[in-house]
Amino acid sequence: MAKPKIATDWMGDCAGCHMSLLDMDERLLTVLGKVELTSSPITDLKHPPEEGVAVGVLSGSINNTSNVYVARMMRKRSGCLIAMGDCAVLGGVLSMRNAFDIKEGLRRAYIDTESTVDGFIPQSDELAKPIRNRPLDQVVKVDYHLPGCPPSADAIFHVLNELAEGREPVVEGEALKYD
Ligand code: SF4
Repeated sequence: MAKPKIATDWMGDCAGCHMSLLDMDERLLTVLGKVELTSSPITDLKHPPEEGVAVGVLSGSINNTSNVYVARMMRKRSGCLIAMGDCAVLGGVLSMRNAFDIKEGLRRAYIDTESTVDGFIPQSDELAKPIRNRPLDQVVKVDYHLPGCPPSADAIFHVLNELAEGREPVVEGEALKYD
């Protein structure tokens, strides 16, 4: 029987959640013995395949128009969707930007920063546009929330392994944390 497929991607984040996923160490092999990893930030294939996957995993917040695109594509192509990490679950540290006007934030980042000389705000139709930061479930339906900054490798392994075994993942005790 074919193994269920899984895809993962990141949005507005620091990559720490995917580092925690890699921290599963040898348990990665346990998971990969039960599922087929199709796409991820560290594989050649970056987007979930058109035919879809059983499980989609997204880290990071919705911080720009590219993140909206990634979230909607993963939702459309995933049987169930996991929000991994505080950024995806709650909006995370990038939500601090919401207290400021977007233009003000861009000016601070690209022009007013003390280390910047002759700064300018990049302009191109190919660049994603910043939007108000928000958690994943404010843009698409989320089936499982896995908080933590980052969630522990134990918690990530538990959720993926339970889903691979066809069970409902329940995260509780020390594995369930909000940072
Ligand atoms: S939840 Fe924490 S570790 Fe994960 S992407 Fe956000 S800031 Fe990084």
